[in-house]
Amino acid sequence: MGVYTTTDPVTGDQNAQYPEITDTELDDLIGRSTTAYRCWRTAPLERRRAVLTRAAEIHREQADELAKLLTLEMGKPIAQARGEVELVASIYQYYADHVDDFMADEPLDITGSGTAVVRTEPIGPLVGIMPWNYPFYQVARFAAPNIALGNTIIVKHARNCPQSALAIERVLTEAGLPAGVYLNAFISSAQVANAVADPRVQGVSLTGSEKAGSAVGEIAGRHMKKCVLELGGSDPFIVLADADVDAAAAAAVVGRLGNGGQACTASKRFLVEERVYDEFVRKFVDGMSGWQPGDPTSPETKLGPMASNSGAEELDELVQEAISHGAEVLLGGGRPEGAYYPPTVLTGVTREMRAFDEELFGPVAVVHRVGSLDEAIELANDSPFGLSSSVFTSSPEKADRVAAELETGMVWINSTSKSSPDLPFGGVKGSGVGRELARYGFNEFANKKLVRNP
Ligand code: NAP
Repeated sequence: MGVYTTTDPVTGDQNAQYPEITDTELDDLIGRSTTAYRCWRTAPLERRRAVLTRAAEIHREQADELAKLLTLEMGKPIAQARGEVELVASIYQYYADHVDDFMADEPLDITGSGTAVVRTEPIGPLVGIMPWNYPFYQVARFAAPNIALGNTIIVKHARNCPQSALAIERVLTEAGLPAGVYLNAFISSAQVANAVADPRVQGVSLTGSEKAGSAVGEIAGRHMKKCVLELGGSDPFIVLADADVDAAAAAAVVGRLGNGGQACTASKRFLVEERVYDEFVRKFVDGMSGWQPGDPTSPETKLGPMASNSGAEELDELVQEAISHGAEVLLGGGRPEGAYYPPTVLTGVTREMRAFDEELFGPVAVVHRVGSLDEAIELANDSPFGLSSSVFTSSPEKADRVAAELETGMVWINSTSKSSPDLPFGGVKGSGVGRELARYGFNEFANKKLVRNP
């Protein structure tokens, strides 16, 4: 039987282990989720609001303790960990504030006589499968809207952040959520498959890699379960010749290195128009070199270790393969030390190299020189992914054109991608299916029930 383990990425020390539960225990968990659903689906909105509001307050009250867990389990610099906890509090509060509006009946403007109304109802117990890169935030995006809607949730978190997983369950219990509405499950991939197939479970949401997404999506499809997949990205960051290059270079550094570069919507491919290429590269490399990795528990540290030695090694494989095929290293490129990986900038990355179209999940940037706006759009879309994107330009017309032509779920103008409870989040192509946050995320696992009275 497998285990969930906290491994401090700085020291490599394993400081907590939790065994996976048995199949019988999982069956019992699904049973408890199903029982809880019978009551929670009709819980007054006032009660749901109170729980969500209290969850937001507890996150703020316990921000230091919760942030330390993130730093311990995946090496997130403590200042960024506090930022994650605050974002999570704002997500719970957002759904507390909007649940009445989102649950309200929608009368339809119909041609026939009588009335037609669309009601918003929950669908039942759901399974969530979550990654380690934002352990609290990823879960909140799934849990907050579904708790508000009246669904119940079983979460299988990443196996390297078990203490964060348990903390989420504890906070929601302290917030007054009835037993069984949110359940943590330390389970294997095979058990995930059984849970998704279980007739009592009505849907599944996975945030993670394409590999995990396609495995779970296949099972969901086979059993006709609604699924949301939030997968990887290789976001383009376009700098046009009329851009404010200082602002673009400064944003590019944060966009690439925030969260140790381990963000789905991190800026990963920098497509820079000829005329400003040299200036951008100089300023970008200079900025990247200022983020040398340090102790993630120090409030001054901007770049910590990666979440694991294996993550650093996998990233390094892509970098070394690119270098051996002729990519040029403008910064970094050295081998990892444990989970520490230096900020790295590559140019001359060509289609034959894995770094051209695979996700670089760490502090490594690839810069391409482009001759025109058309070429920038073409190269941006030349990717199996379609999550988010950024364009830097002083021309509103060019920004509009880029926004219209990029094959991504999100486009940010003169900004890196960010997440906020009131903005939908999600991608197209290999980046997944569906949306989280805002009203869009709320509706993913809702039964939009027509009630027609002719
Ligand atoms: P991962 O290896 O795919 O793991 C994500 C979750 O899926 C973990 O809980 C993992 O469990 C589970 N899992 C893996 N294979 C599975 C399978 N065959 N069946 C069922 N569950 C399975 O991804 P990660 O390394 O944790 O996260 C990084 C990836 O997530 C990147 O690609 C990143 O871009 C993506 N991501 C996307 C978004 C978004 O919103 N689009 C947000 C954050 C991250 P174990 O831990 O037990 O392996």
